[in-house]
Amino acid sequence: MSTPMFLARPLPGVVGERRRMCHVFPAPASERPPSTLTALCGAWFARGQLELLDGPRGMPCELCLRTVPQPTQLGGTDDRPDDLDAHVARIERQLDELSRAVDSLADLLIVLRDSLGRRRPETCSSAATQDPS
Ligand SMILES: [Zn+2]
Repeated sequence: MSTPMFLARPLPGVVGERRRMCHVFPAPASERPPSTLTALCGAWFARGQLELLDGPRGMPCELCLRTVPQPTQLGGTDDRPDDLDAHVARIERQLDELSRAVDSLADLLIVLRDSLGRRRPETCSSAATQDPS
């Protein structure tokens, strides 16, 4: 029988925000909860320092992910889609579209900023006359 696994990450404040990664922990074998829990990557935490997660959240710990033997041990299934490449290609196309949308939005903002920049001397002229210096 395989060891059940669970996901947890350090609570806010335990580590810096950039190190609050989602780690994979083997479920403790003993009935009594241990005082410290060690992730697959070797990072260990006191029991009260961890937030138990029902699924991956935020940045995953790559070392833990590389060490996980089977997806089934995380409570999931290992029936990955056969058309994984097609799925990835679709996501890449969506990212391209999103990237183009962000680019055109950036262009629009530049045009808007420039048009506001041209109007600014008129709108600020009254403020400039009130400057005592
Ligand atoms: Zn880890």
